[in-house]
Amino acid sequence: MSHVRASRFVAGERRRRIRVSFEFFPPKSEDMERTLWDSISRLAPLAPNFVSVTYGAGGSTRERTHATVRRILAETALTPAAHLTCVAATRDDIDEVIRAYWDAGVRHIVALRGDPPDGAGGRYAPHPGGYHHAADLVAGIKRLADFEISVAAYPEKHPDSPSVEADIDMLKAKVDAGATRAMTQFFFENTLYFRYLERVRARGIKIPIVPGILPVQNFKQAKGFATRCGTSVPDWLAERFDGLDDDPATRKLIAAAVAAEQVVDLVDQGVTDFHFYTMNRADLVFAICHLLGLRPDVKREAA
Ligand SMILES: Cc1cc2nc3c(=O)[nH]c(=O)nc-3n(C[C@H](O)[C@H](O)[C@H](O)COP(=O)(O)OP(=O)(O)OC[C@H]3O[C@@H](n4cnc5c(N)ncnc54)[C@H](O)[C@@H]3O)c2cc1C
Repeated sequence: MSHVRASRFVAGERRRRIRVSFEFFPPKSEDMERTLWDSISRLAPLAPNFVSVTYGAGGSTRERTHATVRRILAETALTPAAHLTCVAATRDDIDEVIRAYWDAGVRHIVALRGDPPDGAGGRYAPHPGGYHHAADLVAGIKRLADFEISVAAYPEKHPDSPSVEADIDMLKAKVDAGATRAMTQFFFENTLYFRYLERVRARGIKIPIVPGILPVQNFKQAKGFATRCGTSVPDWLAERFDGLDDDPATRKLIAAAVAAEQVVDLVDQGVTDFHFYTMNRADLVFAICHLLGLRPDVKREAA
């Protein structure tokens, strides 16, 4: 982001308007569970707007997603949002999950099509008796109960989409079905986000399009993930991590600097809401939120 003219700090009125949400994935082992809950405990005092819990490919984490969301409800004051996908399940199966969330007290769902069971980049085929895509799922959820519904958006277009216009048409269909917020796929060039936002607004879509921010803890891994989901990785980013494969401590400092530069530039251009892909780690996200001016006491004052 060579053009960045980031402010030194985010202060006053602008600081009070910043709202963040944090995305976690359900843990697979006891160790991962401890890491997740340490991270939730560290980030909770920042009073996020909500915290979301992902749903594994093919519904593979159905029980673990549900258990994590239930524990957030039971043990914290946070508002959970449960991710849900259409993959490899009938409408009846998915409707059962939706009802179970409602009965457990969940009121916010992140409704997604999902990726093929073999992962992003593969060929997607809807289940013959299932919801076909995210807009279909949003409508199905709304038919069952009045959840708040967030959906996904793609500043660089979804890889399955023939064009940006077709992709924005799908976003419009999700909004028309009842979605009231979109979180974006992660991106590294803010100009891509603003160009996309302009096109979305020109299409008459008014809901918040919240930038998804991925603090890059592991460049190699992030690059592989980016390739599969259609996010471009600029040369300047690769250059910043160049030579640091065996130096995790420096990598972490660079990661914090890169993400801080990105979010402060977004704030400078009027963005107030951020969705962080935490990868279940709190340190970098906490530091970036601190730079954004978030403090536990400030949030309490503002409440
Ligand atoms: C914030 C966020 C959270 C996510 N969380 C999860 C998660 O918890 N679990 C998980 O498995 N994945 C998750 N994903 C990844 C997501 O499931 C994939 O990107 C998936 O490939 C598309 O899901 P979607 O909801 O965007 O799909 P949709 O909005 O249904 O479709 C995405 C694009 O595919 C094309 N498309 C789809 N169907 C059609 C059609 N019938 N005709 C024409 N074009 C079509 C369109 O271009 C459309 O814009 C997440 C992504 C984001 C950005």
